[in-house]
Formats: sequence, C-alpha cells, structure tokens
Amino acid sequence: MSQKPRYSIVAPIYNEEGNIARLYERITKVLESTGETWELVTVNDGSRDKSFELLTELAHKDHRIKVVNFARNFGHQLAVTAGLHHTSGDAVIIIDADLQDPPELILDMIERWKAGYHVVYAVRQERKGESWFKLLTAKLFYRIIYRITDVDIPLDTGDFRLMDRKVVDALNSMPEHNRFIRGLTSWIGFKQTGVTYVREAREWGETKYPLKKMVRFAMDAVTGFSYFPLQIMVYVSLILGVLAVLAIPIIAILRLILGFQFLGGQVTNIVLLLLLSSFQLFFLFIMGQYVARIYDESRRRPLYIVADKVGFEGNDAQAGHPVKQSVAEPEAGG
Ligand code: UDP
Ligand code: MG
Repeated sequence: MSQKPRYSIVAPIYNEEGNIARLYERITKVLESTGETWELVTVNDGSRDKSFELLTELAHKDHRIKVVNFARNFGHQLAVTAGLHHTSGDAVIIIDADLQDPPELILDMIERWKAGYHVVYAVRQERKGESWFKLLTAKLFYRIIYRITDVDIPLDTGDFRLMDRKVVDALNSMPEHNRFIRGLTSWIGFKQTGVTYVREAREWGETKYPLKKMVRFAMDAVTGFSYFPLQIMVYVSLILGVLAVLAIPIIAILRLILGFQFLGGQVTNIVLLLLLSSFQLFFLFIMGQYVARIYDESRRRPLYIVADKVGFEGNDAQAGHPVKQSVAEPEAGG
C-alpha cells in the first residue's frame, strides 16, 4: 500500500449511491486487465444519500479504494481537484461516477500514454439519454468557448481524460478558484491527443448539473480563459458613439432645412432609455463576474474543506469519529 500505484482513477461523487457498486466493478475489471497497480480515489462531494457509507465500506474491503470526504457540496470541479491532489499514480484518469464515461476506454487512453502522449482526452462522438436542451446548450457551449478563448480547448470534451504525472503536478500547482479543469489542462500544454467514444445515458439517478450550476460552470470557463466579453464593450460603445455623431447633423438638417418638427416623442425616448440602460446593466453584470472572481482570489480561502479521509495511510476514519478539519494542500496529499 505504501508503494505508489501505476494508475490513479479519480471519481467525484455526489448522490451516486446507485452507481457505486457498478463503478467499482467495472473499474476493477478494466484495471486488473492491465496487470499493473492502481488506486481509485473517490471524492464524496457532500452527498446526502448513502454514497459515503458505501464508499467507506469498499475502502475497508479493498485497500486500493480511497475516499476524500468533503464537509459539504463544493461542486464537481473542486471534487475533481481534490481527487487530483490526493493521487500518486504515474498516470491519472478522471472519470464520472455515473458510468456515462465507459471505464473500458481507459485501456485506449493508457495505450496512447505509453506511446508518449501526456494528456489523452475523450471526445464525445454521440451523447445518449440527454435532453434536447442539454444537447443544444452543450453543443453551443463548446463552440462558443472554442471561438472566444485564448487556449485551444478541444470540442465536445469533458473531464474524462488521462493525464501524465507531470501534467497533474502542473495542475495541482495552480491555486485558482472557479476552476474550469479542461481549460486548465489545455493551458498547460504538453503532448495531447484525443480518443472518441459514445457517451451513454446515466446508469442510475439524475444529472447533478441543474441549470444554475451549468450557467456558473459556463461563466467560469469564459471568465477563466477569455477577455472577449470585456472587449466587446468597446465595439458597442463605438457603434453607439458613431450613431450619436451621425444623428446630430441629420437632425439639424431635418429641422432647419426641411422644417420637420422633431420626430418621435416621449415614447421613443422611453424605449431608447430602456434599451441603453439594459445594455449598460448587462455590461456591468459582465464586469461583476470578473470582479467577483478577483474577490474570490483575494480572500485566499482554501478551495475545499475535507471532513475526513478513508483508506489513506494513517488517516483512516472510523465510523462516528469526530470530524477532522484539514485544508487543501497543493501537493499530493495522503
Ligand atoms: N458531481 C459532483 N458534485 C456536484 C455535481 C456533480 O461531484 O456538485 C459529480 C457527479 O456525481 C458525477 C460527475 O460529477 O460523478 C458528473 O456529474 P453529472 O453526471 O451530474 O453531470 P452530467 O453528466 O449530467 O453533465
Ligand atoms: Mg453524468
């Protein structure tokens, strides 16, 4: 157990009690077929069901299973981040716990890694069992991000990926809050490649990404990797400025030479006022998104709080053990 494993699998878990047994079974089968050592680091992200109990039970039975238990729900990206902090394998694979990412694909990823790639990401060729709304918003999201960000983030690619230890160490050295992990991985560089797969429907349960979390996630992606929303303000201001400058002689000619008494009236004014205020408030909102994230950084809070850890050396939590508080360490913990 003290030896570091060849592969580390990271799985974030939020109310996944119905998926845990199958996840364990499929991951075990796939990784045992490699004939090499491995560990499965699960992060229980404040689940309100039996997920933590089930994971703890597994960890007591199988020393390759580890559990990082969050003090509350911190969100998918921070759960993955914590998982990465607690891995020690030469290659690390991030996978969803709902089996939408087929563990069998890990073997293809390992093959590419052995061929010299540092990041092997999984590209979704097709998505099954998702609502048309999710399909449409996801498709749009990946294309907009691709257009407006300064790093090349591959299309239709989630967090399901293999990363070399060097990449994980680089990622772990980034202390930023509001993390968009797939963007950060692209930003790091190294030799990257993709493998394609068909994304299945969830095995059990419902998506843990309601609209609110999706919007937040999208804002993190945009603000984290692009100044575009800040820059478009200048174009809007230029267009409005030009309109205003043109309007002055046009109005003067209409009035003085052609004798028109001024067009429009109160109603036009009110409509214009509403329109321009809405523009301005929208841009204030965008600026606010960046400012709030600056504030997040300046407070320097830890990224997450760990209540307990199971399966890590010297850290075994017993049932009913008082909650130990520990903060995120940037290095691999354990
Ligand atoms: N997840 C999490 N914390 C959250 C939301 C989700 O750890 O606040 C986990 C969830 O248990 C799953 C993964 O992140 O393993 C992906 O979530 P989900 O399947 O709900 O997202 P979707 O596939 O619908 O985009
Ligand atoms: Mg899912």
